[in-house]
Amino acid sequence: MLTGERQRLPSWFKTTLPTGKKLVRYNQTTSSIHDNALHTVCEEAKCPNVHDCWGRGTATFMVAGQHCTRGCRFCAVSTLKKPPLPDSNEPENLALAVENMGLSHVVITVVNRDDLDDSGASHYRACIDAVHQRTPDVQIELLCSDLAGDTDALSSLLDGAPLQVFAHNIECVERLTPNVRDPRASFDQSLFILETAKKIRPDVVTKSSIMVGLGETNEEVTSAMKSLRNIDVDLLTLGQYLSPGKGHHPVVSFPTPEQFDIWANEAKDLGFSGVASGPLVRSSYRAAELLDGANGFSSEGVFEI
Ligand code: SF4
Repeated sequence: MLTGERQRLPSWFKTTLPTGKKLVRYNQTTSSIHDNALHTVCEEAKCPNVHDCWGRGTATFMVAGQHCTRGCRFCAVSTLKKPPLPDSNEPENLALAVENMGLSHVVITVVNRDDLDDSGASHYRACIDAVHQRTPDVQIELLCSDLAGDTDALSSLLDGAPLQVFAHNIECVERLTPNVRDPRASFDQSLFILETAKKIRPDVVTKSSIMVGLGETNEEVTSAMKSLRNIDVDLLTLGQYLSPGKGHHPVVSFPTPEQFDIWANEAKDLGFSGVASGPLVRSSYRAAELLDGANGFSSEGVFEI
């Protein structure tokens, strides 16, 4: 097993620092985020794609605070049982940043808020509405928590929401879920939330993500993909798990880029309308392109990175 910051990465993890126009865009993205007191999962999760994504002017905002009420073993976001209440200025600040950055597609992710009666649903909705009000042409993708399985909270979040994509990650294969995710999360609850979201809003694209390298077998990955297709999930991302450091789940393996290609083809055969599969893929990586592919605006809707 490979643990913490000392894990040695295979050659296919090499990334490059932005230069020229990409560096200018990277600096602009950094200012838009920090000037509006916003948080991103790119920074909080120490994402390896930050130079690439920010250099292309995209980022994934993290709303409802900097602390999560859950303590999943794969995640770098800090945990607090009772974090401060969500910032009431956040929806407007977020909307301003999206406008300033000139985004056409924004991914908004959330921390779990088990401390709030609605698990944070009303704040998440306020963020979506504020972005839509200020920039009605921007496509909005919400990477949501499981809202503790609360269908009322999910309905209030989704009914009439100006949303193109509702994403919720199963994170890993079923067998490993109790070891990897907080005990309040479960594989079945995640499937239930995705399935119910589709029932409430069949017009909204659903999406999920699987991390590999946690000790799963290839067959278990296939089985997880089938579980998602059985409930009509449209888009899938598959990426390599990297451990944020000591005390987190270790990296057990590094599947090769060729294996990611095999999974991408399997996912396509299972009927996903868009698949991004590769060691560096994260659930929000190239999110706009993935949706475009699923909508038939680009050639395949399947790409390996
Ligand atoms: S992949 Fe997602 S989390 Fe990582 S830098 Fe890009 S937008 Fe941010």
